Amino acid sequence: MKNLVLFNGVIHTLDTQKPTASAIGMRGNEIVFVGGDKEALALFNNEPCERVDLKGATVIPGLTDAHLHFEYYSMMLQTINAELPAAKDVVAKVAEKARSLPEGKWITGFGWNHNEWGGEFPNAAMLDEVSPRHPVSLQAKSGHAIWVNSAALREVGITDDTPDPEGGHIVRDAAGKATGIILEEAMWMVDRKIPAPTVEELAAAIENGLQTANRHGLTGVHDLDQPSVFKAFQRLHKEGKLTLRVNKGIPLAYLDAAVAAGLYTGFGDDMLHLGPVKMFADGALGPRTAWMLAGYDSAPEDLGISTTDVEVLCESTLKANSNGLAVAIHAIGDRANREVLNIFAEAKKQYPHSGLRNRIEHVQLLAPEDLGRLAELGVIASMQPLHATSDMYIADKHWGNRVTGAYALKTQLQKGAVLALGSDCPVETLDPLTGIHAAVTRRRSDGTPCPEGWRPEQRLTVEEAVRGYTQGPAYACGMEDRLGTIKEGYLADLTILEKDIFAIDPMDILKTEVVGTVVNGKFVWRSEAI
Ligand SMILES: [Zn+2]
Repeated sequence: MKNLVLFNGVIHTLDTQKPTASAIGMRGNEIVFVGGDKEALALFNNEPCERVDLKGATVIPGLTDAHLHFEYYSMMLQTINAELPAAKDVVAKVAEKARSLPEGKWITGFGWNHNEWGGEFPNAAMLDEVSPRHPVSLQAKSGHAIWVNSAALREVGITDDTPDPEGGHIVRDAAGKATGIILEEAMWMVDRKIPAPTVEELAAAIENGLQTANRHGLTGVHDLDQPSVFKAFQRLHKEGKLTLRVNKGIPLAYLDAAVAAGLYTGFGDDMLHLGPVKMFADGALGPRTAWMLAGYDSAPEDLGISTTDVEVLCESTLKANSNGLAVAIHAIGDRANREVLNIFAEAKKQYPHSGLRNRIEHVQLLAPEDLGRLAELGVIASMQPLHATSDMYIADKHWGNRVTGAYALKTQLQKGAVLALGSDCPVETLDPLTGIHAAVTRRRSDGTPCPEGWRPEQRLTVEEAVRGYTQGPAYACGMEDRLGTIKEGYLADLTILEKDIFAIDPMDILKTEVVGTVVNGKFVWRSEAI
């Protein structure tokens, strides 16, 4: 078993009995000492031990992202980021990719916007020059167009004579030749021909995703993606390559299978275990599909959408909870949140001793009378600080005065709810420091909207935000007795930062480097600074 001692640091333990220290000693995957340098350096005297001088770096418990989509994120990392200043920059990236991929493999990407390139659509010929034998499909940032090459057109069988499908359009030039731009419903003709990744390809993508997450200081995630990524995680875990603790949620579609197989939330080990069953009560704010008690300020007739029948949500929740499975329900609008709270109240009444930690994902808008109900019912508030700063302008526009109950992180804490913070990556970046910054300042990275931030009464202290990324997620998956705090007997997960984020100007949190990440007492990321 390997021993590790970190000394000469600024350590914020989040343990109220011993909030600060300068050294930590770890045996294997466990923290065995928290205190001063002298004692720490005397530990493990007759045993092999690595001793690392932190040179004043700051240590906090390992950060966990309580809501993300790891497969989607990892696959995005493999594709081309086409959000570039000119079409020729994208072509150069495609050329680079074509050189490294076997012939015939698809090259995919996302993010181009021809309006930023002077308004002209790009075309297939530009891609053909650098990628004659790899089919290429690049989605526009708007999500309403794709840019393909001739190999892709051939592969999916689109010719100059292919008729436009209903609701879609294959753009053609004056001579009637398909240009390589495919719009709206015609995009499916291409998308459905792009093969899904194999387990091996997915595992390789996930491995790369793990490294990126570790470099950003993450030691754990709660994944709410599809089961395919579960296989990849298990495979990596078996090979000893899983460097993030994973709490793996499953979609509602698998509830019956999970019950039939006798699976409980928590099944697995401390590294990889089954999380909650994920369901959806409504849509999102942007497209006005969040389900509302009253119409949108911007569209008074519009109440949004209930995406899963309330009865189905209720029955499924009761079925899950009576079979040892916790539930996580996506709820954005105040009506969606109210219905979900009613369902969780019923579940609590029927199964008061289940010990399961049900959660609401997002908790974006609550009616004033519902603000205290998560705390009352013991429901976890799984919230994303970056959604507040991304959405602030449309939230004001669509919800008007109701925004006093929107993205109300501080209110949830004050009422006594457990906050589990996350990113919803790839919707937002998974970098947890940008999330902590947003929670503490309620400002975007460019400082907008103003020095006090948007709805400043909802700002968290740095300590509250860090608890939301450490102790909150640990509690949400029932591991608060061994994870989320730097304390003797706890699992040795740590995030090491170049600067003390508890002491610096909160805007500088964005510029703080992660110099080390420790999972189970081992460095999974270590920069040259330590
Ligand atoms: Zn999500």
